[in-house]
Order: sequence, then C-alpha cells, then structure tokens
Amino acid sequence: MSLPFDLRQNQHPRSAEERAAILADPGFGNHFTDHMAVATWTSSDGWHDSAVVPYGPFTLDPATAVLHYAQEIFEGLKAYRHADGSVWLFRPDQNAARLRRSARRMALPELSEEDFLASIDALVSADEAWVPGGVSGEQSLYLRPFLFASEAFLGVRPSRRVTYCCIASPAGPYFASGVHPVRIWVSTTYNRSGPGGTGAAKTGGNYASSLVAQAEAAEKGFDQVMFTDAVEQRWVEELGGMNVYLVTTDNELVTPALSGTILEGVTRDSILTLAREFGLTPVERQISLEELLAGVDSGLVSEVFACGTAAVITPIGLLADDSGDHKVSSGETGEVTAALRKNLLDVQYGRAEDTHGWMRRV
Ligand code: PMP
Repeated sequence: MSLPFDLRQNQHPRSAEERAAILADPGFGNHFTDHMAVATWTSSDGWHDSAVVPYGPFTLDPATAVLHYAQEIFEGLKAYRHADGSVWLFRPDQNAARLRRSARRMALPELSEEDFLASIDALVSADEAWVPGGVSGEQSLYLRPFLFASEAFLGVRPSRRVTYCCIASPAGPYFASGVHPVRIWVSTTYNRSGPGGTGAAKTGGNYASSLVAQAEAAEKGFDQVMFTDAVEQRWVEELGGMNVYLVTTDNELVTPALSGTILEGVTRDSILTLAREFGLTPVERQISLEELLAGVDSGLVSEVFACGTAAVITPIGLLADDSGDHKVSSGETGEVTAALRKNLLDVQYGRAEDTHGWMRRV
C-alpha cells in the first residue's frame, strides 16, 4: 500500500510579495518553500505518519543517532516550469532508485519509488507557486529528499527509527552571468572515498570529507576539486559534487567507469544516452590522470566538462596539480560541451521534444 501525503496547510505562508522578492533573486539553497513532505519509519511498524506539513525545524534529542554516526542519505533533483505553466521533473525515477541504493549501503530502510514520487508530487503541488517561471532564465525549484537516523540511542547499530523529509528551495541560474569555464585543482592529497567505502552512496560524510580539499583549492584560486582513486592516486574519479567527461579528437565522449567509489549521476547517465545523437561514441572506462593531462596538453582531449543536476554541464577550462597548469584547448567553452548543455536544458524546460521519456509532469 502506498503512503498518503495529505496536505496540512501552512497557516502562515509567505505573502505573494515576499515570495516574488525571493524568486527575483533566489541564489542557491538560501530560501525554502512553505511546506515539506515527511514520513517516519520504525523497525516495528515500517513507514507511517506521512504528510505534507508546514516547513519548520525538527526537535531532536541530543542523542539522535545521525548527529553522532552520520547515518543519513539524500538526493537532489529539480522541478522545471515549462512555457505553458506546467511543472515537470527530470528522471525522478532515477533519484528514487539511487536513494534506495544509498539506503542499502547505509543500512537505512528503503522508500519505494511510488512513495518517493508521491511525496515529491504532493510537495511540489502544494508549493507550485514557488516554481520559478521565466523559461529562458534556467531557474528551477530544487528538491532535496533525505533520510536520517532519528532514534535517540548512542549504541552503534542501524537506527530503529528513521525520518524521511523532502524540502524545496527555489534556485536561480547556476551561471548568473553566462556560462564560463571553471578552474579545477586535482587533489592527490585527499580522497573522497575508497574501495568498499561509501563513494557510490549519496551520504553526507562523503561531502564532509571533501570540504577541506575544497577549501584548500579555493585558497589557491581554484573553483572545484577533482579527486583521484584512493589506492593508486592514479585514476580520475569525479569532482566533489559532479561527474566528469572528456571529449577527444576521435569523437569519443569518455567518462570514468563506475568503480563503486564514484556517484552514479543522473546527468552522467543521460549524457551517455545523448552522445550518439551528437555523433559521438560514449565510452566508460578508467582514465588515468596522466592520460588526461597529457591529452589536454597535446590537444587530443579537446574538451573537458563536469556534469550534475545543479549546474547541468560546467565547462572545465583549466586543470592543475603539483605538475603545474594544464589549459584545456582555448580555455573557452567547447562546442560539444555547449551543444550537450543546450540539449539537456531544452528537454528539461520543454523547448525540445522529450524523445527518451525523461520528463514527468507533476
Ligand atoms: N557526483 C557527486 C559526488 C554528486 O554529489 C553529484 C550530485 N548529485 C553528482 C556526481 C552528479 O549527479 P546528478 O547528475 O545525479 O546530479
């Protein structure tokens, strides 16, 4: 039986004027809508107490397990407004599946795809007015479903009480002043995850452990960090929050193979499908850092980009490590990068036909 997500209306929602002021310049992750979806799981009763309720803080016992042992997972996806006013999600079934995979790795209960989608449909419907319009502007309503160990207990074992929640946050265009290539520091000092670890799960600890690497790179004047594998510090893995691709002069679109230590991105997977439509051969294989940097230097690698829900596709203009700077082609956004980016956005915003059945109407 599926979970009902009935609406308990917020009696004190933001006024239309307040909402309009926020939507005029939302940034990312700063503002939240009037409601949130919630559900509770207990080992004795399974999932129950599901609803869409007024947005607000949780009251947590100081012994709540997640605060000590970080048993938590999350997802990230967006709702897009099309020109006719309708609101759509991009491949939410993939986020549902990844949340279940993450749950298995982190010993959390699985939420069915049906319940996941029901929670999101109910929340987005309740807060539809928060989905930004202005189709050309790349604004969206970012959705953040998450699960955490909410039992007040200090023993180290899977929590017997788990809270599910989905919050929503209006997001402005990632590149407010137009797309521009980013500068990447390749870290061989810090690793994101190792074999048998949690790299393939979307769990908070992976992000916590990337922060010091990110901070050090920012201090050196870089935008993001690229991580290599933890065993040999040799193979390209991904950025802190995005997968990576390179384009070769042989018309190959190459991305690191899923190794169990990188996150399987929905955008990454979509690009593998789109490649052939752009006359490119999609390739998933190991890429050594040495091969990448030599390819960038020789021009054999003509474009490098990162991909993920937040920024869709981000061109990479420079890679640097202890060996020095390696400028990618002209340092400008490459042709393939720009074309793939436009195509994905056109599908998401309903400007191009959804030939793969990726869009789901709320
Ligand atoms: N890698 C990591 C570590 C991420 O956090 C994300 C963002 N979810 C991605 C890759 C890209 O995944 P997606 O395309 O599903 O957003």
